Amino acid sequence: MRNIGKISRGFVDRYNQEYEVAYEAAGVGIWEWDLDRDVISYSKYCARLLNIRRGKPLNCKLFTSLLHYEDRERVIAALRTVQMTGFLDLEFRVVHAGGKANWLHVKGSMSPDRRVGGRELSGVVFDIDSRRRAEDELRSNNQRLQSILDMVPDAMIVIDEAGIVTSFSAVAERLFGYRAEEIVGRNINKLSLEIDRNRHDSSLEHDRRTNKPPVIHFDRVLTGQRKDGTTFPMLLAIGEVVRADCGSITEFGHRHFIGFIRDLTEQQKTQAKLHELQVNLFRLSRLSLLGGMASSFAHELNQPLAAINNYLVGVQRLLEGNDDSHAATIRAALDKAARQTLRAGDIIRHLRDFISRNESDKRIVRIAHLLEETCDLALAGAHDMGIVVHVQVASEVNCVLVDTVQIQQVLVNLLRNALEAMQDTVRRELTVAATLDSSFMVEILVSDTGHGVPEDYLPRLFEPFMTTKETGMGIGLSISKTIIEAHGGRLWVETNPFGGTTFRFTIPSVNEE
Ligand code: ADP
Repeated sequence: MRNIGKISRGFVDRYNQEYEVAYEAAGVGIWEWDLDRDVISYSKYCARLLNIRRGKPLNCKLFTSLLHYEDRERVIAALRTVQMTGFLDLEFRVVHAGGKANWLHVKGSMSPDRRVGGRELSGVVFDIDSRRRAEDELRSNNQRLQSILDMVPDAMIVIDEAGIVTSFSAVAERLFGYRAEEIVGRNINKLSLEIDRNRHDSSLEHDRRTNKPPVIHFDRVLTGQRKDGTTFPMLLAIGEVVRADCGSITEFGHRHFIGFIRDLTEQQKTQAKLHELQVNLFRLSRLSLLGGMASSFAHELNQPLAAINNYLVGVQRLLEGNDDSHAATIRAALDKAARQTLRAGDIIRHLRDFISRNESDKRIVRIAHLLEETCDLALAGAHDMGIVVHVQVASEVNCVLVDTVQIQQVLVNLLRNALEAMQDTVRRELTVAATLDSSFMVEILVSDTGHGVPEDYLPRLFEPFMTTKETGMGIGLSISKTIIEAHGGRLWVETNPFGGTTFRFTIPSVNEE
């Protein structure tokens, strides 16, 4: 280590005496570094900034020992090159008492030495602590904002007023297949995306007039195009970003538009699948209702067939001993008729056997689960029709022993009727609720605010083929009633005092254990 030697009485001291007050007021310290002797002389204010006692001998090594350990290596490397470059421009932290670090900025350049052949560097140092801290805070705020934005599942694109992309998020990169560098700085048209700024202007203007903060306005569903030329359905939401440093937002160049883009591919696929499921569900429920109807017809037809057979046997007996020339032909015809009647009975018996084969498959199910599953499927799309759905299950309601498919059939039929009844009404509310009645039966209610049932239809509502719909079959309610009664419950209807209809049915509750 070289000897620091006596502090030079160079220009630092001279200027210090003459301009000390002015330098201090300006927050600038001055210094001089004699490279050959490795002696650094410094002003009073400089000593304050470096947190050293004034007059303390200083050289390069002692100077670097004052620095924050994270900055030391970088500063040493810069000081090594200064001999070649003859120029210094550095920002670093000096450690103060208590470990607090303060940011300083040093600038200097090689100055003509008063000594012949000597090398001297002189310059200034000033405090940049508040600026650096503000910058650090800004950077960490930006990082925080960026990490929040990175979590947004939608693609985000920011454009300026001229349509030039200023930001293109990572999700946007994945969605469109372009890297941000390929898009940022280019016109948004590169994405074949027309962000209709004029269209948004009127709604944004309205927000401005009503003093509302600029909000996001949803656009229609558009078709996006990826880099490889393939297209996808997307929902675009546009908001306006106004720079805080701009006085008038109407001034050109001061407004930015932020677009959030949601890929609707999966959503549309799911919707199509759901629609297909719903159509299948309704078709199956109809088929199943028809099965139920056939079963009850079979039951009803058995009796008249038996009666016909009895009459035929009676007539045959009456004809016994009759010598009429036609009697034999009549007997033969009656015989055939009787056989056909028996055949009809057999067919019906087979039909009933076939239908009853998978007739009942009763299980214990949680009513909340049953309602939830059925409503999910039968009411998908109800929200788009503007229907508000309430599903309430009372806490004391737990399990029921039912044929799930059949009870779902009843529910689907009631829900579908309710949706159809509300197609043209202004108020559209559907309530599905389950409660426990005094006789330990679960009572399920399906109530709507639809057009209601005309008074004169009410008594015949559960009769087969009673329908008011053009394409209706009028068998849903009658079969539903059969199903519920087969479960030991009851199905009935009430008209709502506020308009609309309420259907209620009961099924036996069971203890889960
Ligand atoms: P479909 O729906 O095929 O007509 P249903 O047996 O399910 O057969 O219904 C019979 C009739 O009952 C319907 O045509 C309709 O007139 C009436 N109806 C059923 N539910 C409602 C309801 N929620 N609101 C008004 N009318 C209803």
